[in-house]
Amino acid sequence: MYFGVQYYPEQWPESRWPIDAAMMQRAGVNTVRMGEFAWSAYEPREGQIDFRWMDRAIQLLNEHGIRVIMCTCSRTPPPWVFKKYPGVANTRFDGHVNRYGQRYTVGLAHPEFIALAERIDRAVIEHFAGHPGIIGWQVDNEVGGFNDCYCERCLRTFQDYLRDKYGTVERLNQSWGEHFWSFHFSDFDEVPLPANNPQLGLEYRRFMSHLNVAFTRWRSELIHQLDPGKFVTTNFQSFTIKHTDYFKMAEVIDLPGMNHYPPRSPELILDYYRGAKGKMIVLEQLSRLAFCDTGEGWMRLWAYRALAHGACGTIFFRWRTARYGQEQHADGILPHAGQENRRYRELARMGAELKTMGERIDATHVEARVALLMGYESRWAMEAGLDLPDMQGHLDVIRFHEDLLRKNVTTDALDPHGDLSHYQLVIAPRLWLVDEGIAANLRAFVERGGVLCLTAASGVVDEFNKSFDTPRPGPLAEIAGVEISDLSPLEKPVRLSSAVLPALEGAQATVMADEMHPTTAKVLARYASGWRKGLPVLTENRWHGGRVFYLGTVLEGAALSALVGYLLRVAGVQPVLETPPGVRAYQRVGEAERLLFLINENEEPRSLVLPEGWRDAFTGMPVEVVEIGGVDVRILSQSDFQVQ
Ligand SMILES: [Zn+2]
Repeated sequence: MYFGVQYYPEQWPESRWPIDAAMMQRAGVNTVRMGEFAWSAYEPREGQIDFRWMDRAIQLLNEHGIRVIMCTCSRTPPPWVFKKYPGVANTRFDGHVNRYGQRYTVGLAHPEFIALAERIDRAVIEHFAGHPGIIGWQVDNEVGGFNDCYCERCLRTFQDYLRDKYGTVERLNQSWGEHFWSFHFSDFDEVPLPANNPQLGLEYRRFMSHLNVAFTRWRSELIHQLDPGKFVTTNFQSFTIKHTDYFKMAEVIDLPGMNHYPPRSPELILDYYRGAKGKMIVLEQLSRLAFCDTGEGWMRLWAYRALAHGACGTIFFRWRTARYGQEQHADGILPHAGQENRRYRELARMGAELKTMGERIDATHVEARVALLMGYESRWAMEAGLDLPDMQGHLDVIRFHEDLLRKNVTTDALDPHGDLSHYQLVIAPRLWLVDEGIAANLRAFVERGGVLCLTAASGVVDEFNKSFDTPRPGPLAEIAGVEISDLSPLEKPVRLSSAVLPALEGAQATVMADEMHPTTAKVLARYASGWRKGLPVLTENRWHGGRVFYLGTVLEGAALSALVGYLLRVAGVQPVLETPPGVRAYQRVGEAERLLFLINENEEPRSLVLPEGWRDAFTGMPVEVVEIGGVDVRILSQSDFQVQ
């Protein structure tokens, strides 16, 4: 279990380092992450590279039993780079050329940047490779954040990318559609920067994502070559950020890493970034948001929540609050003055607990029978074609996920192309873009007997962001047993009626409505007011061994809960446990034991009766009625040899 903090020795006098290292050791810190913004400290003038200060910092930390995750650092160059090589700067969508003063203001495809970045990153990797105190590597920080570029040079690189992808300009014309506003190309060099064309917009987003993944791949491969045996990770940014397909990024690294910024990030982010690899590390666990009134216990609770969702480590951001710079008031564990405080004591409490539990937690993993699907391409396609904030797909995914959380149902969150063979229930809300791979994947899942739920505004466009010329949901219409003829926003809620799901009787449809025409599906619920009265809103279709539900609107609260409960019953999925409101139960499963995390988000204590066989994970004592303090966490254990 990696437990620690982000540390910036370059921002503090060297005389302070021993105090920091001793305090970290006392708090149980075993890992620090360093170096992601250290270019100016390594190379204050061009060519004068000095790693000795970092060598000393690593040695000191190692002497205190603390290992290091070392970062490459090239996306935040020092001022001399911008002065001597102004071509590194990227250009924003509005044409403004960035200047020095912020971070990440570089174009990853610019030749000057590529040369300088590869030089400093290679120097860092070569210097620290083989160091026994370094356990793994992080490729830069938040790769892709703010790196989008809309300059003429990137346009030419984009045109080359299109040449590679499409081969002939005729194929590009056919794929994107021709002659709308005279959009028809006689050569790739006529393709413009994106403005408001949905096909071009989606492809440019793919291109930018591709650059971000390529940046990470180059460094990951070099690290594996020069420092074999060390893991490579990088931190995926907060949930609403979608500049990069993180499922593709995960393919070029060993261990997906992430920022975890509760309460701003929905809990879904933990399952989504764990993703197809089934593992992740929190590389930036926020101790609290700046100026957010976070009381006693929340920092530890959030960190345990990440572990409960499958994290193999938690690195708090950051050790000590910066005394200067753009994040001067972004909190660290320690305050500006560096003395012990409430957050330090919480860190130390968790550090002591993980000395007992760390390896045992590492020996377990999350096992889900339910998967939520959400792809980046779908979100990009929708944004490039119909950017309606209320209708964005991730909002519906969050709604479903929060309901599954309230029911304590363990859930994976995957790309729609992901392997679905482990699941009994798959919910794919607002699957706007459906390519052939997604359609085949879902069809195979249902044919194997799976239960699939689709929702409104699905199967709208193909992989090029072109609308289908068959009724929606396009290639999913057959398995869903419905055809959709129209999609409208709902300016006010519409009442529903259902004989099959009594909880939907009188419930409200919100946000949008598909106009549904069942072909082979049966109707489970209908609209009960307005001009839609009597029209279907929820259908079920039996397809080979499985079933496909189609919800043609958005449900919230009790209505959504009733639908999710129905889907779980049909699919035969059990929750981990039933808990009182505000208490969540999570399970991690291993060969030797299974661990139950009970997290109480109420300010007051709660208790619940446990099924037989659970013991306190720390003391081994059997527990029948478990008490959980306010804003507190209990870990229980069950193992075959303990159960009589
Ligand atoms: Zn550019």
